[in-house]
Amino acid sequence: MHVHAMHVYQVLRTRMGLPLPSVRETVAQLVVYSLLEDYLSYWIHRLLHTQWGYEKIHRVHHEFTAPTGFAMSYSHWAENLLLSIPALAGPVIVPCHITTQWLWFSIRLIEGINIHSGYHFPFISPSKLIPFYGGAAYHDYHHYAGGRSQSNFAPLFTYCDYIYRTDKGYRYHKLKQAKLKSLEENNVDKKGGSTAFSTRKTD
Ligand SMILES: [Zn+2]
Ligand SMILES: [Zn+2]
Repeated sequence: MHVHAMHVYQVLRTRMGLPLPSVRETVAQLVVYSLLEDYLSYWIHRLLHTQWGYEKIHRVHHEFTAPTGFAMSYSHWAENLLLSIPALAGPVIVPCHITTQWLWFSIRLIEGINIHSGYHFPFISPSKLIPFYGGAAYHDYHHYAGGRSQSNFAPLFTYCDYIYRTDKGYRYHKLKQAKLKSLEENNVDKKGGSTAFSTRKTD
């Protein structure tokens, strides 16, 4: 069966003509789409971490314990299909102009690559604007913890994991890292910048 793109746009009730949507309307719709997608993806991802879901489907995506941008779409076909539901939910419930739709799918793609990249790019990581933005470090921890991970299920934001208390492992991990860092800094301070070896030599 041949599904014409026009049929998809009819289902999504996509607006195509002029006038173009205002910046305010576009931003408001993108905010709604992002929050909705994050919430639905959180629960689908949690289901994929049940024993059945993990062994049959999600295991493929978790072959990467330290992912790169390519890992974003490296998953079982059923997972790709399932996770397109949250992405389409926004435009289905709140119809928009085709320009907003292009923007939405572009942003999703870039953010998907971004959170798997292993790098914190300040120009595409809106962590300063959005206090509950997760980003690369957040999702990287989910892959680091692996299949038994019960932490950081939300793809973009931190609010779902906070509400449902599934960020404990990550919080503990961050605390441990901060402690190690301050210990290291204290050691350097005590030695006045010289190494243990050079101090011993002058004794
Ligand atoms: Zn996972
Ligand atoms: Zn991932």
